[in-house]
Amino acid sequence: MKQGSGLSVYSGVAIGPAVVYRKPRQTAEVVRGTPEEEQKKFEQACETAKEQLSRLYAQARETVGEEHAAIIEVQMLMLEDLDYLEGVAAEIAAGEAAADAALGCGEAMAQMFAALDDEYMKARSADIRDASRRVSDILSGAEEFRLPEGRFLLAAEDLSPSETIQLPRERILAFVTRQGSSSSHTAILARTLNIPSLVQADIDLDEVDKCQTLAVDGFTGNWYVDPDTETLAALMEKQAQANASRAALEAYRGKESITPSGKKILLCANIGSPEDAVFAMKGDAEGIGLMRSEFLYLGRDSLPAEEELYNAYRQVAQTMEDRPVVVRTLDIGADKQADYLNLEKEENPALGLRGLRLCLNQEELFRTQLRAIYRASAFGKLQIMFPMVASVWELSKAKQLCNQIRRELIREGYQVGDVPIGVMVETPAAAVIADELAKEADFFSVGTNDLTQYTLAVDRQNAHIGDFYDPYHPALMRLLAWIAKCAKEAGIWAGICGELGADPRLTEKFIEMGYTELSMAPGKILETRKLICESKV
Ligand code: PEP
Ligand code: MG
Repeated sequence: MKQGSGLSVYSGVAIGPAVVYRKPRQTAEVVRGTPEEEQKKFEQACETAKEQLSRLYAQARETVGEEHAAIIEVQMLMLEDLDYLEGVAAEIAAGEAAADAALGCGEAMAQMFAALDDEYMKARSADIRDASRRVSDILSGAEEFRLPEGRFLLAAEDLSPSETIQLPRERILAFVTRQGSSSSHTAILARTLNIPSLVQADIDLDEVDKCQTLAVDGFTGNWYVDPDTETLAALMEKQAQANASRAALEAYRGKESITPSGKKILLCANIGSPEDAVFAMKGDAEGIGLMRSEFLYLGRDSLPAEEELYNAYRQVAQTMEDRPVVVRTLDIGADKQADYLNLEKEENPALGLRGLRLCLNQEELFRTQLRAIYRASAFGKLQIMFPMVASVWELSKAKQLCNQIRRELIREGYQVGDVPIGVMVETPAAAVIADELAKEADFFSVGTNDLTQYTLAVDRQNAHIGDFYDPYHPALMRLLAWIAKCAKEAGIWAGICGELGADPRLTEKFIEMGYTELSMAPGKILETRKLICESKV
């Protein structure tokens, strides 16, 4: 048995066979043949790529839905496109190696699409690039990663958002990554799906490759490679207990979240993608308190078009029926980077051009997102929330743009709903001037992850200073009490959507402070409802 630990991002115990995810790698030296041989190799590689893609398509449709799977369908069509095939043939005939010709023609075509006016076609350039890269990888002997049948624990160095969305979610028992952070996409997905998971794990992937059984204890943050009989028995016992407590929580499904003294709390879910709304409903969420909309922008090569964003927000609004849905506008920057935005490298990205600052600086980017949200607002109870606000003028400027877009859409004949606009309170400045902001905002939702990081000046991603990241620090508690007080006095609601929202040690305290909404991973809702119903406040 080997054992070690990581940072737990979701509790629970998982035991089973392990799979190590590795990125495609070159396996052989490639010898260039005659043009006829190269052409033949290219045609075979296209066939192999199409087979791989159709497998991926079926898998993705099952796990992430038709809409996301369409990305893969576009790639399959690209490999039958005559312009592409003829372009590659011409380059091979002129003496180019098949792998280079496949990549070069794909790149040229991708650039052509990127220059088109039509937003949808523009967005396809990344798919074209992906497909030609796949053919080129096959030609240069790079191996495709294949998952075995059945259920398994997935170990990896790290997983990018685009890799994560292609995984068969229902077959994964746990995630263990050597890198990553508690706010990485894998971590957020793990929480949404109730999968015990560790990031920053000190695990040797070669040992996992050879092992029979991997076990993850998300309660302690420990992992075990080939656990001995005693450890295995203890873990199984813990797993059975966790399952029994989960089953007991079912008594709270469909119940109101109300304290014995009659204080009603709205228990909402945090989600990262439109498909996650289904998990929110399964978790019995009373709404979405935080949709991290930046995940629609990550793991791709170009900006999503208005239409794509609109469809995503509409899907969430419709899935949640008459429940409220808070869409946080783009919070890119710091740990969440999209290369295609070509943002300058910053010395101190957590204090850099991120969140609302980036949106106010790149108005077109912001406009596209806001238009999509307002258009989707006709299908449900959407609300807008701005991240990283520090001053009243930022909120006023963003609201002004919202009003302008709303009027513009109505003029264009679109139906738009009534969309409340709130502030994500996550900078100490916003917390201190909560009384001022409350006059301008329709609601507050506290981002305790960033508020802790900025108040205590402790990097939330840095595992070495984890002991100093103290979310119970009195400075933070005072700010939280003040924010709720300001909201109450201004007659607006205040909620918590950072990780603390699901912290059982603080549920009562938050209710006493005056918070009326708590938003968390869907799997935490029933246990928090139980706490509320049994609380003394
Ligand atoms: C937060 O900062 O508390 C929050 C909820 O947002 P994120 O974790 O996405 O920064
Ligand atoms: Mg934040």
